Amino acid sequence: MKLKFLAATAALSACLFAAQAWAEGKGLVGIAMPTKSSARWIDDGNNMVKQLKAAGYDTDLQYAEDDIPNQLAQIENMITKGVKVLVIASIDGTTLTNALENADAAGIKVIAYDRLIRESKAVSYYATFDNFKVGVQQATSLVNGLKERFPDAKPWNVELFGGSPDDNNAFFFYNGAMSVLQPMIDKGEIVVVSGQTGMDKVGTLRWDPATAQSRMDNILSANYTGAKHVNGVLSPYDGLSIGILSSLKGVGYGSGDLKMPIVTGQDAEIPSVKSIVAGEQYSTIFKDTRALAGVTVKMVDAVLQGSEPEINDTKTYDNGKKVVPSYLLEPVPVDKTNYEKVLVGSGYYKAEQLK
Ligand code: BGC
Repeated sequence: MKLKFLAATAALSACLFAAQAWAEGKGLVGIAMPTKSSARWIDDGNNMVKQLKAAGYDTDLQYAEDDIPNQLAQIENMITKGVKVLVIASIDGTTLTNALENADAAGIKVIAYDRLIRESKAVSYYATFDNFKVGVQQATSLVNGLKERFPDAKPWNVELFGGSPDDNNAFFFYNGAMSVLQPMIDKGEIVVVSGQTGMDKVGTLRWDPATAQSRMDNILSANYTGAKHVNGVLSPYDGLSIGILSSLKGVGYGSGDLKMPIVTGQDAEIPSVKSIVAGEQYSTIFKDTRALAGVTVKMVDAVLQGSEPEINDTKTYDNGKKVVPSYLLEPVPVDKTNYEKVLVGSGYYKAEQLK
């Protein structure tokens, strides 16, 4: 009996050992993330590591704190370490061409994560959300909010913010939003009082909240004197929304008779969800980073097996050298009415985190 037990235990440990060796044998994947200054990228990194490990890979996760030379050095280092696949969320989508040529020469496959890598043939696949739709959803929510909070203030005074001009996504968000707003501007239903429109004027380098805050300060002091009030602000990212809201609060919006303008966002970051619950930020867009990691891990498996991963877009993302086959996930608009269902109900956050 005892012998049988010992034999069974030995067989079990041999199995476990073999499974572990096999898992470790699947190779190293390099994950280059832009910055830890925003919680969404921390979630992305954690989810990628968790899901790659579960699929049997080792991981090297690096954050570049929005510094381009730093990200380049991290990627070169991953190539030297012998990663099999590089998963990259770029800071500036155009600056990686040389590094990716080196990767290609070393037989390393590259997957663009969330942000398109531009000007390189060496990008196999792109995993992201429907970025144009994000913009449409932001503008739709803005307009719904304007109707709800300012039913009698037409034409509505709205100011526009864009994301970082070196991030391909920023143009998709802006163009998606303008597909809703431009017809209303043309009809005179919305007025951009500052006159600042177009990504060249409204872009926010590196998605920096302080830059957005000071631009909002300037817009307010130059254009909103006397009885003229802002009714809405298109903001493409929660970090910017927080800066914009500080600027608005600084001159009295949200207190007394001065209603808080409708301010949009993106990423469902905790400070913004709390702000939505408190009635300050109006909405955000939830992009489930668990699902994005899931799609990306399938792409990693496929490029290593020489098979085709599931893709659902072969037209939209031309990076200047090729149209990169993509998988686009669905973004979900979130406001006070559905945040619990979408964010807590899906297990993305625990209710206590939002208190
Ligand atoms: C991402 C957004 C994010 C922004 C700022 C974009 O590339 O798609 O989700 O809000 O970067 O980090």
